[in-house]
Formats: sequence, structure tokens, C-alpha cells
Amino acid sequence: MRVVSRSLTIKQMATVSGLAVIVISIFIVIQLFHFVQQRRMDYATQMENIAHTVRKPLSEAVLKADIPQAERILASLKPAGILSRADVVLPNAFQALRSDFASEKAVPRLVARLFELPVQITVPLYSVDPPNPKPLAYLVLQADSWRVYQFILSALATMVTTYLLLALILSVAIGWCLNRLMVHPLRKIARELQALPTHAVAGHQLPMPPLHRDDELGMLVRSYNRNQQVLARLHADYGRQATHYPLSELPNRTLFLALLEQYLAGSSALAPFSVLVIRIDTLHDGGMMNDVQRDALLLTLVGRLRGTLDASTVLAQLNDTDFAVLARRAGTPFRAMQLARALQHLLSQPLPLEGIRLRPRASIGIAQRDGQSLSAEALLRRAISAMMSARHHNAQPILFFDPQLTERAQNRLNIEHSILTALEQEQFVLFLQPQTDMRDGALVGAEALLRMRLADGSYGLPDEFITNAEETSMMGELGRWVLEESCRLLAGWQARGITLPLSVNLSALQLRDTGMVGHLRELLQRHRIRPGQLILELTETAQVGEPQQALALLQEICDAGVAIALDDFGMGYANLHCLSQFKSLPISKLKMDRSFVAALPEDDSMVRIVAAIGHITGLSVIAEGVESAEQRDWLLARGITLAQGYFYAQPLSWQAFNLRYFPTRSDEEPA
Ligand code: C2E
Ligand code: CA
Ligand code: CA
Repeated sequence: MRVVSRSLTIKQMATVSGLAVIVISIFIVIQLFHFVQQRRMDYATQMENIAHTVRKPLSEAVLKADIPQAERILASLKPAGILSRADVVLPNAFQALRSDFASEKAVPRLVARLFELPVQITVPLYSVDPPNPKPLAYLVLQADSWRVYQFILSALATMVTTYLLLALILSVAIGWCLNRLMVHPLRKIARELQALPTHAVAGHQLPMPPLHRDDELGMLVRSYNRNQQVLARLHADYGRQATHYPLSELPNRTLFLALLEQYLAGSSALAPFSVLVIRIDTLHDGGMMNDVQRDALLLTLVGRLRGTLDASTVLAQLNDTDFAVLARRAGTPFRAMQLARALQHLLSQPLPLEGIRLRPRASIGIAQRDGQSLSAEALLRRAISAMMSARHHNAQPILFFDPQLTERAQNRLNIEHSILTALEQEQFVLFLQPQTDMRDGALVGAEALLRMRLADGSYGLPDEFITNAEETSMMGELGRWVLEESCRLLAGWQARGITLPLSVNLSALQLRDTGMVGHLRELLQRHRIRPGQLILELTETAQVGEPQQALALLQEICDAGVAIALDDFGMGYANLHCLSQFKSLPISKLKMDRSFVAALPEDDSMVRIVAAIGHITGLSVIAEGVESAEQRDWLLARGITLAQGYFYAQPLSWQAFNLRYFPTRSDEEPA
């Protein structure tokens, strides 16, 4: 193992010192400029005072042109000490007199430039008698730059030494504190871990360094200890399951729980998913199989399970006979049941195993997180408990923890099954309900409504049938059948010269089916349906969701010559928004929801709103569910002229419809 080649102490000292040097340098430069500036100002003031003491006699001497007297006066300034030169300059800039006091030693040019040396002042000399406002001459005094330079050097030296000393003391102090606080405990931990013999690694725990419970070091130690515990548990499980764990190479119970916990923590706000527990009792048939056979059986079954599960699903082995599945995609009871059935079917396929023929039996328990917050342990426990019930339930090898869910999933499966057989046995038919102009009772259209042949021979649509079908995979197929049948009926009318438009309901699911438009075009072409004859009714909820995608699809539908009506208009919350988006599309009708008509005459607010929307958008409004003459009159009074409802007719079979509305023509079903 690598030893420490550059200790944290050294690194941290180097950083602190480097930083200190930079800061101190900046500090010194600023302070030096400040001091020198002050010194310059002092000199200027002193020279100003000196000049004033000699101004008067000097002016007189200059006025009298008494050069020796003026020179004497200038020379008398020398003892002041700070001066290096004193000149008298005439207004025309001629130098009249000059006296040098010190043979000025040269100051380095850079220093002179930086600090603007030498310091000079100029004082005007006036004549007093006779008085004259124009100066006679100027007295120019210059300070000794060498003195200033000496001052700069000494100030710099003092500052550098003091500050560096300060920095050194601070660095050492900070270094010592950090060392005590961090490096020491870290070093202790590192040494302990380094000295750990291999056999003691598993389950090793670090002591909590005193005074560090509440800081990052404490967190480090706690995390390490927790990870060690998880590893130790895994290790123990490994040991216990040593006979088969390496064989199936699946995560064990502990790891599964850890993965589940992780998923629970990460998955978006209570998104539903399922946990399945599968028991294969065959794996436990004491005495029937030898170890080799049991291993072979296990490998085959695990292979089968893995083959059906996709990458988003986690498969784990809990013990000799039990497996757990985390199915993220199984969000509804129906999907979970579908998955469980698929797994069960697969597991129970006969296995030719070296001499014995086996048909393994699997019991499956399902727990769902459906809007409730459960821990990983709780979920797994529920799935196991459901599995145990399923084991003792001969008729029902798949059970949910929540018995209601079993029932619901079972219902859906029954519906799926019944739709499939009804399609196969041609038990579906379309009934037609007329759409009428209320002003004169003229027939203006018809809506095709799905009906199924019921056990008693009558035709009907069980409650929630469409909703349930949408939750299974059957709605797509059923929707295709409805479209095909509608086109066939329309073609039958067209052949007889009838041009009544037919409205057909489109489920939200079909709107998301990418193959739908292609299928529709093919049908229109095959039956030579004229543009405008077919109207698709969309419920508003179908449009909400992916507006852009839905809009593009609607445009394609329109381009194919099919008109669109908005069904149950007024119930969705997105009406007006949708309407503004659909401006460009040839929507032919708004179908006012039945409930608004039912509220008449007590509450006509929605009827009035929908009528107004129709008026503003220029779309015709058709009222659904008109059951009485009174309702008809109210609607007519509000400008709504089209209606569909029991007042005019119930949905009728093809034959009954034709017999009633087109009696002069043949009422045979189209070929
Ligand atoms: P919807 O599209 O609003 O269809 C109108 C429903 O109102 C029909 O019920 C019809 O029988 C009923 N109805 C008509 N006049 C009156 C009336 O005066 N009073 C009352 N109380 N009810 C009246 P139905 O046939 O049971 O259909 C129910 C829903 O099932 C439909 O509502 C539609 O959303 C859906 N559906 C029916 N057939 C199909 C289909 O072929 N495909 C799709 N995707 N959905 C369909
Ligand atoms: Ca409808
Ligand atoms: Ca409707």
C-alpha cells in the first residue's frame, strides 16, 4: 500500500503561506504609496513656510537688483536641511539666481518616476513698495530627493519584516489548529485501516473520533460503518446460500431489498409499480431429486424467468424456492396480473429432466405500491404473504396482497377475454342513433354506437365497457373493427344513393396509435367513401395530453377527408384552449354534453355558454341526450337546432334504422 508522500500538513502550510505572501505584497504596495504621498505633502508644507520667511527681504533685494544680498538670503536657507536647491526665476523663465545646497545623490530613475520626485514648490515674489500685482520673480525650492528615497527604503524594510513575521506566526497557528482538528484524526483512521489484517476487514467498524460526532469526519466514519454492516449482511447471506447462490447468480434478499429501497427513494412521487414473489415448490421436493437435478432445474427456471423479463425488471432469489421480481412497468393491477400470468405459464411448462418429467407449480403473490408510501421491507412482506395465500389457494395461484386488486385484475382479464371471443364470434354490431334538425324533424346524420350481443340475445354495452377495454390491450383492435364496420355501412348507403354522414367515436387510445391514420386511409379508399361522409367524434380528454402530436394527427385525419366533432363538449377543462388550437382544422360540430341538457330547464348556464361558444366560433352545436319536448323548446330558444336523443330515437340496429328512415329503399344489410 502507498504511504503518504506529501502530508496534508505540508500541503496546507504551503497553500496558507503562498496566499499570505500574495496578500501581504498587495498590502505593502498600497501602504507604501500612502506613506510616501504623506511625506511629500509634509515637505511641501515645510518648504512653503521657509519660502514665506524670506519672501519679503528677497523681493526687496530683487527689486533693487542687489544680487549679493539675494544670494546671501538664499544661502541662509541651507540650514533648513531638507532643501537641495533654491532658485530665483524671472517671469520670462530666465533663471536669475541659483544655489545648490547638497551635492544631490542620484535617486534610481524608476523610484523617481513612481513617486514623482523631486518635490518642488514655486512661490511668487511681489514688489511691496511701490505695490505691483504682477510678480517680480519666482522663488523655486526643491526638496532633497535622496532623503525621500532613504525614507522609502526604511519604510519598505520595516513593513516587509513586520508583515512577514505576522504571516509566519498566523500560518503556524492556523496550521497547528487544522492539524489537530483534521489531520490527526484522519491519520489515525488511515493508520488503523492500513494495519487491518485481511481476515478482520469484513464487519470492521471504526471508533467515532471524540469531538467529531457532528461534523464531516463523523459522517465519514458513520457511512463507513454502515457500509461495512451492509457488506457483512450480504456476506452472511452468501455464506448461508452458498449451495445455490453462485449457481443462479441472482441478487439475494438483502441486495433486492437494498435495490428496492433505492428505487423507492428515487422513483417519482409514488409512481405505482409491483413487487412479485414467486414460490416454486418443485425446487423443494425433498428426496425426489438429487443435487445435480435440482441445480439443473433451478438453472432452467431462472433462464426462463430471465428470458421473459425486460431490462427494467429486477429478478432476485430470496431463498431455495422463492424469487422476487421488482416490476417497474407493472403500474396497474392488470399489468401486474398479466406479467404474473405470463411468468406462471412459462414456469409451468413441462421439464424433461434427466429421466423425470416435471411440471413445476408456481404460486405468485403481488404487492403494489399504489399511491401509498411503504417501506421496501413492508412491500416485500406483503408480496410474500400474498404468495403464501396463493399457495394454499388451489384455484387461484396468483393473488394480490389487496384482495380487491385480485378481483379488479381478474375482471379486466375477463373483459379482455370476452372482447377477444366476441370479436372472433362476430358478436359486436354497430347501432345507429339519428341526429335531427329540431326545427323540422329532418334527419341530418347518425352516430354509430357499439353494441355487444348479450347472453339473453339482446344487444347492449355493459357499464364501463369502453373504459375497461381501454385499460386492456383490446381497445386498439376493437376500435379498428368499429372503423371498418362504419365504412362498410357507409359504403352500403352510398351504393343506394344515401348521403347521410355517419359519426363514429374514436377512443383516446386510438388517437395515440400511429398506425391509425394509415388504416383509416386504406379503409376510405377500399370503400370509396366520399369526403365529409365520415365524422370522427373525439372526446375532449382524448385531445389533452400531447397536444402537438394530437394536432398533427388530426391534421392528417382532416387531409384524408374525414371531419371531426368534439364529443362531450364542455366537460373537459381544456375546451377553449383546445378550440383556439384547432382553429385551423375543419371541426364540423361541437357535441354538447348530455349532462347539460339533462339540467334543463332548472340550470341553463352551460347550455348558454356552449351556444355562445358555437356562435363565436361559427361551429354548429348538437345537443346530446334530448329526452323531452320541453328540452327541445329550450334549446331551440337558445339557437341550438341539432339534437340527438331518446326524444327522437333510441340507438337502432342497422335494419331498424334503415326501415324507419329510408323505407322506400331496400333495407338489406350491405354485402
Ligand atoms: P357518447 O359518445 O356520448 O354516446 C352517446 C351515448 O348517449 C350513447 O350511450 C347513447 O346511447 C346515449 N344516449 C343517446 N341519447 C340519449 C338520451 O336521450 N338520454 C340518455 N340518457 N342517453 C342517451 P352508449 O351507447 O351507452 O355509449 C356510451 C359511451 O361509450 C359513448 O358516449 C362513447 O363514449 C362510448 N362508445 C360507444 N360506442 C363506441 C365506439 O364504437 N367506439 C368508442 N371508442 N367509444 C364508443
Ligand atoms: Ca359520441
Ligand atoms: Ca357524448
